Formats: sequence, C-alpha cells, structure tokens
Amino acid sequence: MMRVSAPDAAWSARIAGPRCIRARIAVDGIRAMREEKTDLRRFEELNLSGESVAVATELGWTEPTPIQREAIPAALAGRDVVGIAQTGTGKTGAFALAIMERLTRGPGPRALILCPTRELAGQVAEEVARLSHRRALRVEAVYGGVPIGRQLEGLRRPPEILVATPGRLLDHLERGTVDLGTVQILVLDEADRMLDMGFRPQIEKILRRLPERRQTMLFSATMPGGVQALAQGVARDPLWIELAPRGTTAVGIEQQVYMVRPERKSELLLELLAHPSWDQVLVFTRTKTGADRLLARLCGAGIAASVLHSDRTQKDRTRALDHFVRGHVRVLVATDVAQRGLDVEGISHVVNYDVPLDPEDYVHRIGRTGRAGATGAAVTFVTPSEIAALRAIEHMLGRSLERVDAPEFGYGPALTAERTLNPRRPRGSRPLGTRLGEELSEERLAELLKVG
Ligand code: AMP
Repeated sequence: MMRVSAPDAAWSARIAGPRCIRARIAVDGIRAMREEKTDLRRFEELNLSGESVAVATELGWTEPTPIQREAIPAALAGRDVVGIAQTGTGKTGAFALAIMERLTRGPGPRALILCPTRELAGQVAEEVARLSHRRALRVEAVYGGVPIGRQLEGLRRPPEILVATPGRLLDHLERGTVDLGTVQILVLDEADRMLDMGFRPQIEKILRRLPERRQTMLFSATMPGGVQALAQGVARDPLWIELAPRGTTAVGIEQQVYMVRPERKSELLLELLAHPSWDQVLVFTRTKTGADRLLARLCGAGIAASVLHSDRTQKDRTRALDHFVRGHVRVLVATDVAQRGLDVEGISHVVNYDVPLDPEDYVHRIGRTGRAGATGAAVTFVTPSEIAALRAIEHMLGRSLERVDAPEFGYGPALTAERTLNPRRPRGSRPLGTRLGEELSEERLAELLKVG
C-alpha cells in the first residue's frame, strides 16, 4: 500500500504556522477572496459521524489537515466546493469522508470521482476503500490500459462509489455498462491535470450524462483560466478554498541544485546514491527514452531500480510502482506520468534529473517527498542549457535555490582540466546539450552558473 505514515501535529506547522491556519476563502466567486482565520479543529468537530472519526483515528490521523478542516464541514452541509490544493494536502481524505457521510443508499453509482491518470485512480480508489471499510460501501475503479473484462464484471452490480479516468469511463458509457443517472456527488480530482491531458471534451460528455441536481467538488493544484471556467460551469455557488498558493512547496523539503555537465549526470546520481541516507529515491527524467537509458545505467551499476512511463504496459507500471513501494527497488525512474498523486511512504529524495520546463511541475515533482509532515530532500541537476528553466522556477518560488558545488561533475576545476587535456573536440562528436557550456568563456559560464 502506498501511504504516508501517520504524521502528527506537524501538519499545522508545515502548512500554516502555529495554532491557526490562513485559508483564503471566496464566498461569492472566483477572485473575491478574503482572508479568514480558522481555529484548529479536531475530526470530532467537523460534524463527522463517529464512524468517520473512528476510521481517521485508526489511520493515525490525529487532526484534520487544513483542506479537510475547510472542505469537510462545507461539503457536509451540501455545499459545492472548489479547492486549490496540491497533492499531499489530504484532499482525498477531505472528499472521501464527505462522500461517505452524504451518500444515500440506492442503486447505481452514487458518487463519481474523476481522476487524470490510472495511477491516481487506483490510489484514490484504495484510499476511499480504506476510509469506507466500516460502511460496507463498494468502490470500483475503471481506467484504461488494462483489459476491460474485469471492469465489466465489477460494474455488473453497480458500486456505490466509482473512481474513473475520463476516457475509460466514456468507453463504458458508450457500451452501456454504466449509467450515471444515479450520481449524487461528483468529484473532479486534479482538474488542471485533466485539462492539460486534453480531457475537456470527454469531461463535457460525461457531464451531460450526470444529473443536474448533484453536489460537485473540484480540486486542482493550480487554477489557470481553463480550470476556473470548468469550475464555474460545474459547481454551483461553491466555497472556494485556496490553501496552497501558486508556487508553494512543502516546508519540510530541503531543496538543492547541482550544476552538472550533461554527460556527467548519471555519474553524479550514482555518487549521490552511494550515500546510505538515499534510501528511497524517485528520479524524474523529461523523456521516456531518457528514463529507459538511465534505468539501464543504474541497473548496470548494480542498483535496484525500476521505471514508470506511459510507453510501459499498465502491468509493468503497476509492477514498477509496487516494487518501489515495497522497497524491493531503491530507485524509481519516472517521467511526469508519475508526478502527481503518487503517494509513496517514505520517499527520501526526489531528483530532477532534468529540469522540468513548466515551473509548476517542479512543485508537483518535489511534492512527492516530505509529505504529511515527513521531511525530504529534492535535488535538481542543471546543465547550462537548463539554466533558463531553473530561473523560471526560482522566479515562481520567489527565491533562489541553494547551489551545491561538485566540481568534479560541473564546471569548476574539471572544466579547466578538460580544456587543457582536450582543447578541441572534433566537430560533431560532442555530447548532446554540451555546446553551450563548452563554448562559453569561463567568466561568462561562472556568471551564468551563479544564477538567481
Ligand atoms: P492526498 O493529498 O490526498 O494525496 O493525501 C496525502 C497523504 O496524507 C495520504 O497518504 C493520506 O493518507 C494522508 N493524510 C490525509 N489526511 C491526513 C490527516 N488528517 N493526517 C495525517 N495524514 C493524512
């Protein structure tokens, strides 16, 4: 199971400071937000039933997270909710607990949760099932990339709670194997990601199959225009909750930048992995071929690793994740398919082997570590051609990230040494991406590498 172990009061400290949280809530619309202070409350004080409080306690959840404190009472009162919250904030628990309290029994799916990826759908279904185990509610997940047969079986007797990716759900709708006319509560999880992945047309088709009268909750890590428009279209007079302003990264995460030569990235990673504290490491590459190449390199160096990207079959992806979660492999190399929603216990380090091009992806990637009060570290490898992308990240964060000097991998003494030894490379033989670094004067390079 992929879980962050039970945290403690660190939640409040990590996300919001001392005994209060600053939740930005807009009662009447998108941008009209007012600051509101809310006292810390316990699960018992959120109007939850004894069953829900008991299940939260069983999971070791000693206090609600900020998004839970804001969203649960509103949702229990029947209100639509739009939450701007990163993964790792406990938003799944927020909507799952509210769903369980509000569902009325009856035929057909009573709650529908739409998620962008198979991995997230699987994890959300697991979390919902864990939270609902005292209530004998059936939870089914339908997503693409796996044979439809077993899902057809699971849908024959409609579950109370259906978790789905948009494409596969449409497939079921078109086959007539699922009917959404009974849905009372709709959750759109990671709405920004769904739109990024081009799911808007599918979502619209699905919306047309849902009853008009329903409760809607939409969660998104970011709120670009498209998501705002979607939220306005699907939710009625929602409570807007913003707990993770753009560019917020969890406080417990130590973040460092290594300036590195492109051709030395894998050696630098191996060097870092030699450190015993690097015990469960998630490495992000920009491309699938890059991920496969790095996997081969790691395996060649005797490091137990697996890979997760969209060219792998669903079976391989599930196995890769499972091996990582169980600690059978120490390193998981992934493209951005794994970036959001992955909830793996105890990731010690996240490595941006390539700098993400979208600064917000940086926040999501490094959010895989330091979750739910745990501490973690995120390391970003930066080559000269990636400096602009690093600057964009720092601009968004509003601060520069700590640089770590590793001259043997970067451009310190190593640059001089190599230049002396190998003054002119034959044209065409230089490794991809090194051009900029090699052709700049050392002064210009030193200036560039200062960044920030
Ligand atoms: P999410 O943001 O939904 O991906 O949740 C992140 C992790 O936090 C999951 O492992 C949850 O099980 C865990 N979690 C959710 N709510 C709480 C809570 N109130 N206290 C401690 N952990 C929580």
